[in-house]
Parts: sequence; C-alpha cells; structure tokens
Amino acid sequence: MLDSLKRKLQVAANFASPPAIAMQIIALAGEPDIDLVKVAAAVSQDPGLTAKILRVANSSLYSKRRRSENLRQALVNLGLNVTTTLALSFSLVSAYKNGQGAGIDYPRFWRRAILSASAARTLGTLHSGPALEDLFLAGLLQDIAVLAIDRAQPAFYAGLPAQYSHADLCALERQQIGSDHAAVGGWLMRQWQLPESLCAVVEASHDPERIDRGQSLGLATRVIALASGCVEVLLAPHAPRDLQDLAGQAQAWLGMEAGQLAEVMASMVAEIPEIERLFEAELLDAGIAGLMLEQARELLTFRSMQALDQVSKLHDDCAHLEARTAELELRHRRDALTGVYNRGHLDEILEKEFRSAVVGGWPLSVVFADLDRFKLVNDTYGHPTGDSVLKATAQLLVGELRDEDVVARYGGEEFVIVLPGIGTESARNICDRLLARLRALQHEVAAGTTIRTTASLGLATHCAQSPFDGVGDLIKAADRCVYAAKEAGRDRVVCFKPELARTA
Ligand code: GH3
Ligand code: MG
Ligand code: MG
Repeated sequence: MLDSLKRKLQVAANFASPPAIAMQIIALAGEPDIDLVKVAAAVSQDPGLTAKILRVANSSLYSKRRRSENLRQALVNLGLNVTTTLALSFSLVSAYKNGQGAGIDYPRFWRRAILSASAARTLGTLHSGPALEDLFLAGLLQDIAVLAIDRAQPAFYAGLPAQYSHADLCALERQQIGSDHAAVGGWLMRQWQLPESLCAVVEASHDPERIDRGQSLGLATRVIALASGCVEVLLAPHAPRDLQDLAGQAQAWLGMEAGQLAEVMASMVAEIPEIERLFEAELLDAGIAGLMLEQARELLTFRSMQALDQVSKLHDDCAHLEARTAELELRHRRDALTGVYNRGHLDEILEKEFRSAVVGGWPLSVVFADLDRFKLVNDTYGHPTGDSVLKATAQLLVGELRDEDVVARYGGEEFVIVLPGIGTESARNICDRLLARLRALQHEVAAGTTIRTTASLGLATHCAQSPFDGVGDLIKAADRCVYAAKEAGRDRVVCFKPELARTA
C-alpha cells in the first residue's frame, strides 16, 4: 500500500517536484559556500517573491533599525541563510496553496503549518543550537506529505471527521498505508533533495524521542514536535487535557517549565498578525486569537503545573548537559572576558564578508576601536576594574549594533567592528553614535565613584569607489586611522583616505 502510494507520488506531476525557483534555492542552499549574488538572481526571477522577502526584512520579526530598500540590502540585512529559507518557504506555500481533495481543508492545513513554523521559531529562541530559520522551515513542512498524499490519491482522506485533529490524520494513515505523513514526508523531501537534516527532522517529528537528544538533530526534532502540539492546543482551545499533555512533553523533551511554555504560546499569538501579513493568510479570527491568549495566560497559573514542574527537575540535568555542549561550542569562537567574538573567528567572518562584498558589489566597513588611555584605568583602579570597563564597553558596542554586524575583541583594549553592506557615510554616523554612547557611559570604579572612558576609532570601507585588495589591507587601513585619531587628540573617528597610506 505504501509502495503504491510512493509510486503514485513519484509520477504525480503536480507534486513530484517543487517549483523551479524553489529547486534552485534548494541547490544553492546546499552549496558549501553559498553565494549572495546567485541567491539574489534566483529570488529576483519572481517579483512577488522579492516583494515578500523585502516585506519580511522590514517586518517587526526581523528589522531592527535599518530599512531594506532593495533585495540586495534585504539579503545583507537578513543574512543568506534566513533569506534562502524564507524564499523556499514562500515559494512552496504559494505552489501548494490550493487544492480540493475530499477530506483535507487546505486553508486550515496552511494555517496550521504557518503557525507551527512560527511556534518552532519561537521555541528555537529558547534553545541554542538549531538555526531559527531551519526550525521555521521544518515546522512549515512537517506535514507537507498530507497534501502530497491528498493530491496523489484524492479519496484518501475522505473518511476524516469534519473537525479532524492531527491524531485523526495519523490514525487514518496508519490504517490505510501502515505508515504516517511524517514518514512519507521524510521520504518525499528526500526525493526533492532537501537537506538531509530537514528530512530527518520531519521524518522523526511524530516520535521525537527516536533521535537521541544528544545528537545534533535531537533538539530540532523535539522543537518541531512540540510546535505541532502547541498549534493543536491553540486551534482547539477548549481541551485542558491536551494542554496538560503538552506541558508534560515540553518538560520531557525540552526541559521547559509551564510558565515558559505559556510565554511561548503567548508570543506565538502575538506574532500572528505579522505572520499573516507576510504569508497573506488569515490564520485566525480575532475572537479565537483572544481566546488563545486567555488560554495561554491560564496556562501560566495552571495549578497542576506545579506538580509537573517538579518532574522537570529531572530533565534539568539533561538540559544542563546540552547547554554545556552549546556553551563549549560557543567558547572557541568567543573572547572569554567580554563574550564578543575572538580574533580567530573575526578572521573567518572578515574573509567571508569581504568575498561577498566583492562578488555582490556592496560596501563593507571595518572599524578599529582602541580605548583611550586605558593603561591609566588599570594603573589607577586596578586590573579587575579595567576588566569590567572592557566588558561594559563590549556590551555597549553589541547593544548599539545590528545583529548582522560583528563585534570582536582584537586584543587587549582593542575591538574590531564589521559592518556588512554599510558605506563610508553611514559607517561614520554609526561611529559618531558609538563615540557619543561610550563618552556617556559611566563605569563605577569604587562605591560612589564613576569614571568615563573614550575611544579612538579608525574606519576603512571597501567599496566600488575605493576597493581594497584584501582583508589584511582593510584592517591595516583601519588600524592606521586609529593612530591618526590618537594623534589628533583621541575620542574621535578618522576615516581612511588613500593619502593616509602614503604618509604612513
Ligand atoms: P592610548 O590612548 O594611546 O591607546 O593609551 P592606552 O593606555 O590605552 O594604550 P596602551 O597600549 O599603552 O595600554 C593598553 C593597556 O591595556 C595596557 C594593558 O595593561 C591593558 N590591557 C590589555 N588587555 C587587558 C585586559 O584584558 N584587562 C585589563 N584590565 N587591561 C588590559
Ligand atoms: Mg592599544
Ligand atoms: Mg588604548
């Protein structure tokens, strides 16, 4: 039965492969050195898709300060991984949006899928490891085989009750083909040559404990399974029993306490309007959204949850181990004192950004920052105080910049900031803002005593008008400007000009 279904799926022209653009994006995403220019070229074949990517880049889910005016800026601002994943999501959703099988309610299917995707993303923010957009895509596609089966065999789901649940779907599938849509989905996505990690996560999504939690996909699989459960509960908001099961799973799988789960559900509900706008789907009517929020709040105070919380202590050990692994992974990229990237990782990032800037033809700014008279801080207040000034400075820099900007400790009291896609003028404004914030930052060095420190900044920008040969030259130029800034009186930014190179 399953084999005959698979044969039908393979020949079903309308579902055999995703649309051409999606296929191209899948292929690009699989390349080890994914290329901005090629992604831009693939996405821009479809003006509707381009418009959607721009809308996402400027939506409250992603944008911070900078507006994306064109696809190139959106690619830089969102990052490549996010863009490819979103482009793939959009093109798959629009390709399979409509259908009229016997039992499947298509709008409801997509409502559920988009909500699951958003829930997976939200859950992902609580657990370091899987990339949020990968979780989004896995959440979105976890039930895709339902549509495939429905199209290959239009009467397949005819026996479903009117308000079917996810469990009803699975029961019917097992009875008919001795398997379920998670298994078929994994198989189908492999046929589409989607990344193996995505296929494996979808395949195990009905039984996440099949994949050991210590494995890299273990966490993603649990997130996807739980996201699906969250959506079931949200869409059927009168089932306290389900809620309790869900809370149990949240603890068993992800070590989440009831309150955390409630917060996730509340933030899912809060994100609905934005997600609806992006996918042009009406996910819920206002009345139900209100009910769901209420439900989420109730969950926060659900008394029996306290008992469950105790069970969660057991799972905490696991979670700790997991967190520790993630922490170790982070550590080799991070500076131990300040938590910003270390020099080694900076070198990697710079190489990558420089290559993208050259190929994509957009600017790349690099800022070298050296604290002023920092030795004096150490000499006057001691080394530990110096350390805490360094930490606070690093935090300020990270807080002031966008997620896609990079702050790294270059050494001692020197930091390097990488601003992809930012030209000289904007970078200078950013530097001025940073200088002003640093100047205003008070460091408490003893009870009742605060000091302020300043920095000297050197800015060098690789752009079409003044290209650099490589990362080494760019860094050297920024470093040279720091010396010029020191000579000119400190607490200022000096921008690189070719004359500086000659006089040095
Ligand atoms: P200038 O304005 O010319 O940059 O003066 P400066 O004193 O900042 O420059 P200098 O390079 O002479 O001194 C840098 C000082 O930074 C000396 C060193 O002890 C201190 N430093 C380097 N790394 C650390 C660190 O990890 N912690 C602390 N507390 N101090 C550090
Ligand atoms: Mg120095
Ligand atoms: Mg210094």
